[in-house]
Amino acid sequence: MAKKIVAGNWKMNLVKDEAKALASEVVAQAKAETPSDVTLIMGVPFVHIAEVKNIIGDAENVFLAAQNCYDKPSGAYTGEISAAQLKSYGVDYVILGHSERREYFGESNEMLAAKVDAVLENDMLPIFCVGEVLEEREAGKQNEVVSKQLSESLFHLPVEDFKKVVIAYEPVWAIGTGKTASAEQAQDMHKEIRAMLTAKYGDAANDISILYGGSCKPSNANEIFAGADVDGGLIGGASLAAADFVAISKSY
Ligand code: PGA
Repeated sequence: MAKKIVAGNWKMNLVKDEAKALASEVVAQAKAETPSDVTLIMGVPFVHIAEVKNIIGDAENVFLAAQNCYDKPSGAYTGEISAAQLKSYGVDYVILGHSERREYFGESNEMLAAKVDAVLENDMLPIFCVGEVLEEREAGKQNEVVSKQLSESLFHLPVEDFKKVVIAYEPVWAIGTGKTASAEQAQDMHKEIRAMLTAKYGDAANDISILYGGSCKPSNANEIFAGADVDGGLIGGASLAAADFVAISKSY
């Protein structure tokens, strides 16, 4: 059975005091309200990692994610952050291949394969994002695009490593636009993704969490999470309000 996961992606939002306040509210509310079988993850900017880790403390169902990392272990890469550095601050998950990284920072499937390896080598878990842009969806190419993203960045992994990966399907046309994929569109694509993973890895694919991302909020999470292959969500905008984020974690 795939784990139920609700992961927040704060993106490049919040200054220090705001980040501390939000993390404290999320942890307090999650302790009281998030069902014990749901893993809640806060994906925070690098600069807030130490503070948020401290605030999470020993909360049992709240985990910490970074939003990116570099694939090299150390060295002369000014401005970059390695997986080992993240691990040393107690990071649990690393979001990789978000469409904003692909679009604005030129991250290719090949670069992402190296980042996936770096994260796994440092005993953290990748949340690997895939998804098509609007023109690709309109041309009916979404399966082809997602299949290429999966195979070029993940399918080199042996099955024991592959089992540690979380997939997030985020149709780019639904991110931050208020335009959600319908519950049916989400389930259809998640089913396709599960089939792609099964073709490569067999039954291990049933244990992989496949999250939906793109304008997910308390009012639509219930319907989206009802899909048989939808194991949770990657939440952008709505993860910036503790009550909304924690409400989504109760939407199974
Ligand atoms: P959104 O972002 O929920 O604000 O659409 C989702 C994401 O980009 O991960």
